[in-house]
Amino acid sequence: MKILVVNAGSSSLKYQLINMEDESTIAQGLVERIGIEGGKLTQKVKGEKRVLQKDLKDHLEAVGMMIAALTDKEFGVISSMDEIGAVGHRVLHGGEKFTESVVINDTVMDAIRENIPLGPLHNPANLMGIKACQEVMPNTPMVAVFDTAFHQTMPPKSFLYGVPIDYYKRLHVRRYGFHGTSHRYVSKRAAELLGRPIEELRLVTCHLGNGSSMAAVQYGKCVDTSMGLTPLEGVLMGTRSGSLDPAVLQFIMNHDHLDINQMLDILNKKSGFLGISGISSDMRDVEEAAAEGHEYSQIAIDMLYQGIKKYIAAYAAVMGGVDAVIFTAGIGENGYELREGVLEGMEFLGIKLDREKNKVRGKEAEISAPDSKVKVLVVPTNEEIVIARDTLELVGQA
Ligand code: AMP
Repeated sequence: MKILVVNAGSSSLKYQLINMEDESTIAQGLVERIGIEGGKLTQKVKGEKRVLQKDLKDHLEAVGMMIAALTDKEFGVISSMDEIGAVGHRVLHGGEKFTESVVINDTVMDAIRENIPLGPLHNPANLMGIKACQEVMPNTPMVAVFDTAFHQTMPPKSFLYGVPIDYYKRLHVRRYGFHGTSHRYVSKRAAELLGRPIEELRLVTCHLGNGSSMAAVQYGKCVDTSMGLTPLEGVLMGTRSGSLDPAVLQFIMNHDHLDINQMLDILNKKSGFLGISGISSDMRDVEEAAAEGHEYSQIAIDMLYQGIKKYIAAYAAVMGGVDAVIFTAGIGENGYELREGVLEGMEFLGIKLDREKNKVRGKEAEISAPDSKVKVLVVPTNEEIVIARDTLELVGQA
């Protein structure tokens, strides 16, 4: 069966067509500037790139353009859209309703809609992507795979905030966690690489990209994670502050006469690497500036290293030990300087890095020293394959 994986954002739509017989990628693409002038589709097939330009009014037109590109006589990869056996959609927020992936029906659509207050930027876009695909492919089964689902195994002591319990009972205010599909993929893959059943492993997974989150995965289940009600909590990120004393908000808002939306905008879009360094949200730019002696770029990097260190040690404590630490996503997979910086001085926990083996970028590798009690792995994430596998499992083999 060929499965189409779709990740719809507010003005973009990423897609990947996967042949489930060998899990190979047949084509992948990106539709950009939906609803904005200058619509554009980029499709890659076996390393060859095609760019099409056309203004796109909405997600329906974007999906139409995606199908046209996939079925194009000259550079397409399928003869008709009937070859697509099912569509797997990435959905940001499943709230407490979804602990795993589900076949999409009207009830599921309503539940995704109900969770819009928890994922105000992403859930509406995800819904638009699903609706557009349903309209274009009315007979194709569709599956929703939630970013929050993997973290639903957390116990209340991990997911509750220390506020009156009424806010949880009435408004479902709690830690949900994100990047669940990635944490699930890398933890399972790490167990395979280590040749041990996941049911006996205590893992700390570090998803470090433009957005970053950490997770404690004990015996295959998430028991704690760093992101919270929204993806703002946790370690320092590209433009997001990560955790801070909530009283900071009141102090700044009173002083600078800001309302809560302006404040949240600062915490989400103007903080993190960008805010501290004043240079960029991108790790490579910040590293370059730090190497040239820019003080606050170096401090931003040090803050991130320290933040990750603290989570590793904290999660080891939560799980009563740690068997492996796994690095993934843009910075985690590529930034060997970061891995070295983070793990320096962590021998007390039984973590010893092999500095030479660590010099890999974007490849699966074991990078711990042979005598390290705790294994350290680089595992490039592959959320699309998880979405495709879940979709296949739910719609049945073909
Ligand atoms: P992602 O959100 O997973 O695409 O990750 C984006 C982040 O990965 C950005 O901060 C990039 O600077 C960072 N990144 C990508 N390649 C490298 C690299 N070679 N070294 C350090 N950071 C990198």
